[in-house]
Amino acid sequence: MELGIDIGGTNVKFGVVDGLEIIYKCEIPTGAKRQDTEIVADIITECKKILAKYDKIEKIGIGSPGGIDSENGVILGAANINFRNTPICKMITDATGIPARVGNDANCAVLGELYAGYGREYKNLILITLGTGVGGGIIIDGKPYLGTRGDAGEIGHMIINCDGEKCGCGQDGCLEAYASVTALIKQTKKAIEENPDCYMAKHAEKIGKVSGRTSFDSMRAGCPVGAKVVDSYLGYLAIGIKSIYQIFRPDAIVIGGAISNEGEYMTKPIIEKLGNKNVLVATSRLKNDIGIIGAAKC
Ligand SMILES: [Zn+2]
Repeated sequence: MELGIDIGGTNVKFGVVDGLEIIYKCEIPTGAKRQDTEIVADIITECKKILAKYDKIEKIGIGSPGGIDSENGVILGAANINFRNTPICKMITDATGIPARVGNDANCAVLGELYAGYGREYKNLILITLGTGVGGGIIIDGKPYLGTRGDAGEIGHMIINCDGEKCGCGQDGCLEAYASVTALIKQTKKAIEENPDCYMAKHAEKIGKVSGRTSFDSMRAGCPVGAKVVDSYLGYLAIGIKSIYQIFRPDAIVIGGAISNEGEYMTKPIIEKLGNKNVLVATSRLKNDIGIIGAAKC
């Protein structure tokens, strides 16, 4: 039995994994702008609660955004979370007595997809995870490709517009600056500002916030402004997917992360924009659990 921890920019998700099944799940807010020691202290508190309930947990696996030194169990740095050379594995093992490993969150997700998702059917697969940021993972010949330093697959920082939006990584025009949930929320807010009388503006006001779902929900309710936001957002994503296809010629490109819950509302227009039937474009069957399962197996 393993404890998988999926650290995101907004929440930290915990899951007790037995084989390939999650038997217990919970989450806490990340508080990403705080000191790293405070973030890890909260994670340790939650680990201790879970370990008290499940005494058969033998390993803790952590998936984190950013650059990771897996060998030494250190998070070198992340664009959206205040980790700077954070020895997270030592901190967690010292506090719990359980061995811990850390991997890049997108590479963990790719392990989840490899063992429990489309990786069971397809040998060459690219995973794109859409969350606070945009991550990626590469499977070649049934094996994850991690690069020399174990941090390959930063699909989110592929530049799609050389004079474009500033990205959290410091570059201009990264896919992440257009296709993350953060970017979609920004695009939705801008459309609401420009169209204060549209259904989407009223819908957002009623709910009291703008989320990654606002534009998709408004589109489904027949709002043309919502539909335009979704179309333009998926257009950016399709540009990224086109480049990925040209480089890797994979069997499948799988989309994971929060927005993948939109299912066919997301994949159908992307497939149309791609105009290519040689590659499967699908949302991950593991939905939001992909990061937890992958982290547990890292
Ligand atoms: Zn970037």
